[in-house]
Amino acid sequence: MLSPEEKQRYDRQIMIPGIGEAGQEKIKKASVVIAGAGGLGSPVALYLTAAGVGTVRVIDNDKVELSNLNRQILHGDKDIGKAKTASAYDKLTKLNKNITIETVHITIDESNAAQLTEGFDVIVDAMDNLSTRFLLNKAAVKHKVPFIHGAVSGLEGRTMTVIPGKSACIKCVYHALPQEHKFPVLGTTPAVIGAIEATEVIKYITGIGTLLTDRLLIYDGLNIKFTELKVVRNINCEHCGDTVIGK
Ligand SMILES: [Zn+2]
Repeated sequence: MLSPEEKQRYDRQIMIPGIGEAGQEKIKKASVVIAGAGGLGSPVALYLTAAGVGTVRVIDNDKVELSNLNRQILHGDKDIGKAKTASAYDKLTKLNKNITIETVHITIDESNAAQLTEGFDVIVDAMDNLSTRFLLNKAAVKHKVPFIHGAVSGLEGRTMTVIPGKSACIKCVYHALPQEHKFPVLGTTPAVIGAIEATEVIKYITGIGTLLTDRLLIYDGLNIKFTELKVVRNINCEHCGDTVIGK
């Protein structure tokens, strides 16, 4: 049941056809794990917290640096040197007292990716490297939990939703690991992509609309163009192929 305070807080989204109070209760019961508290993780965590997702877990291994602040809007000047998870906890608990914020200060690796994401309803990719994205993708397929992919560079971003066993996963789309290096980012690029990722989470939880599955959405901020690449699930995929998932 929603309290009178919750009905008022979420009034504008409860008004959305298909959400209503029943949808808001689904949002309240939902748990979402966000991998990363940086450029993408900031808008995703802020919007899901504001929307009233019952449990939000934020995983990050980093400390806040001055050069993060052009885009990582969970953090500010006073947070420099603090763990990003501590700063995230501080901001998110101030934004919405109704929900549970969990933070885990850890590096996601092969040994812990599945355990860190187990039991959650949705996994959100807010990482800055493909090798960790692959670990999360694998964990999502293992748990059969939707995985919302997002990536940014400069003024370009990409996003796609993965429903394990049904739609293409990111291993169906990306193959070789690119060289990892420092890349440019305008703060508004992760804002656009993170907002789309958070939208997908809310849509999945409430069951409204059409998910961004089997479509890689590419945002070109320089020209403000959105392009969709049609992708298909590879039945021989190393992560989600029929023999791997037991179809
Ligand atoms: Zn796949």
